[in-house]
Amino acid sequence: MKYALVTGGSRGLGRAVCFKFAQMGIPVIINYQSNRDAAEEVCKEICENGGVASIMQFDVSNENEVNATLDAWENEHPDDYIAFLVNNAGIRRDNLMFMMPTEDWHAVINTSLNGFYYVTKRLLPKMMMRKRGGRIVNMASLSGLKGMAGQTNYSAAKAALIGATKALAQEVAARSVTVNAVAPGFIESDMTKDLPQDELKNLVPMKRFGKPDEVASLVGFLCSDEASYITGEVISINGGLY
Ligand code: NAP
Repeated sequence: MKYALVTGGSRGLGRAVCFKFAQMGIPVIINYQSNRDAAEEVCKEICENGGVASIMQFDVSNENEVNATLDAWENEHPDDYIAFLVNNAGIRRDNLMFMMPTEDWHAVINTSLNGFYYVTKRLLPKMMMRKRGGRIVNMASLSGLKGMAGQTNYSAAKAALIGATKALAQEVAARSVTVNAVAPGFIESDMTKDLPQDELKNLVPMKRFGKPDEVASLVGFLCSDEASYITGEVISINGGLY
């Protein structure tokens, strides 16, 4: 059986992506770092609606934890593999660069970029084996495309993730694995709840923040059969904001 793994599936965009996979009839593994209650709530709602879901705790920025947890899952599921991977876990630690604590630089890079590397590297061999195929979607950001003042760490992590998406797409295309990135603008979630929404939405041509479901629809499309020839792309979803 083919499973989907969504890193940071307990809240926000990742949570919406988990519901999208369930809607598509794909069993989903909801990864979280610390918020077990939120992950369990997503799991419960999917299962109550006839879907298949489970929760899985690990810190994407800890390679040993990633490998040990996924090794254990594979041992328990000898006939299954994770065919859909959404590298969504991410954090913000905004500051002007001259005032940025070094640990905030590393924390953001470790989560978005190194997290992508650890989880994807661990799961790639099974996707590529006998050209079984796979879909990888990386949650980048408008910040990674245009750079955002106050976010040198976040912009650097997301720009690097875009570069890695394009490079990896070329490495694995012949094995029927596609690798794409999604670059959202402002989306309603815990990550953006402290931002001055009334002020910022005026910068958006559509005059509103996006909804997690809107991003999830795009991720769902990239993981569907309809998107089988799309790879190495970065698709913006930002209400017209550049
Ligand atoms: P969010 O509401 O803050 O949720 C973050 C999720 O990531 C949570 O599920 C959290 O798990 C998980 N997470 C954080 N660090 C982790 C780690 N080290 N290991 C495993 N899981 C971890 O954020 P969001 O707005 O949904 O953002 C999701 C992704 O979209 C991020 O990559 C973000 O950069 C990107 N994005 C968001 C926006 C936006 O406007 N919201 C725009 C562009 C891009 P816990 O619940 O356990 O803490």
